[in-house]
Amino acid sequence: MKLQVLFAVVRQRFDKELNRDVAIKVIDLEEAMSRPIQKEWMNELDRLGDVYKQGVADFIQFATVNNRGSTTCPCPCRECRNGKSFVFDTISRHLIRYGMDKNYRVWVLHGENPCTDRLVEPID
Ligand SMILES: [Zn+2]
Repeated sequence: MKLQVLFAVVRQRFDKELNRDVAIKVIDLEEAMSRPIQKEWMNELDRLGDVYKQGVADFIQFATVNNRGSTTCPCPCRECRNGKSFVFDTISRHLIRYGMDKNYRVWVLHGENPCTDRLVEPID
């Protein structure tokens, strides 16, 4: 499946980029799409910590899944604030170097649909 191959490439590059074993824990597409989007990591002060790095990895994964095959997307770091587009490698580097723009809470430019994506438990 194409997306899984893409994940593998992104994951490999990301691991190399950080020069350590930062595993993307969930590479199963269905599970990734059905679980609520985690954003607590955006508040992490330690951008070299595991929580933040995993958050960046998850964000890259989210953007990749929703990117319809494109290899670039707007960079949500504090410097670019979605004003520039880069490949995912560069974006993960920016997010660690500059931090994520905290005002960018709903990732609409990266495929998040606030109407259908679960941020909180759905009310039956
Ligand atoms: Zn940037």
